[in-house]
Amino acid sequence: MGATEKTLEAVRAMAAAMEERRVELTQLDAAIGDGDHGTNMHRGFRAALERLQASPPGTPSEVLKAVSMALVSRVGGAAGPLYGTAFLRASSALSGREEPSAADVAAALEAALAGVKQRGRAEVGDKTMVDALEPAVRAARQAEGKGVAAMLRAAAEAAGEGAEATVPLTARKGRASYLGARAAGHKDPGAASTAYLLAAAARAVEGS
Ligand code: ADP
Ligand code: MG
Repeated sequence: MGATEKTLEAVRAMAAAMEERRVELTQLDAAIGDGDHGTNMHRGFRAALERLQASPPGTPSEVLKAVSMALVSRVGGAAGPLYGTAFLRASSALSGREEPSAADVAAALEAALAGVKQRGRAEVGDKTMVDALEPAVRAARQAEGKGVAAMLRAAAEAAGEGAEATVPLTARKGRASYLGARAAGHKDPGAASTAYLLAAAARAVEGS
């Protein structure tokens, strides 16, 4: 299977994960936000699949660009622009790479993180998706030598741990920051969705 088809498989798996986790993510957001994260992400990834079907992409970079456009226009809220930026930066990083190496994919994840941090101004510990994405990037860099599938697996595991680690935190960014200490004891929905997206991508690439 070529890299474009593998990237498409990863996006299909991400869309399936957002469908499967829709209620859970919305419940997490209901606890410390406005209860729309799961429906937002599900809607956005459904739109991404429609866009990819309407105009089939020719490269991994084009796949990620189409996802970015769909997420920006359909997710809304805080997460839409942030995930849109993440996928756009990853797309740009992979531009000209027809068969990306593990190092290329790690660089794309790093570019995604940089975009999210630049746009949202959040750091690790602020109880956001950065708490999942930043450790994922670190793990990806460390696992670069093991190939794309193992690298994504390592990134997904680190993201899952990062998302769990948001539970005791008070939020310093996003809606949950309005709650002060009351946000403690709940997992951040955006960190959770980041971990699920990476796990889905890892599974898809491992299986292809
Ligand atoms: P909204 O908060 O507008 O309803 P969502 O519910 O879809 O949007 O997404 C909420 C998630 O967005 C949070 O759980 C958090 O992970 C993420 N988020 C919010 N603000 C920021 C930020 N400034 N930087 C990074 N992530 C953020
Ligand atoms: Mg919300």
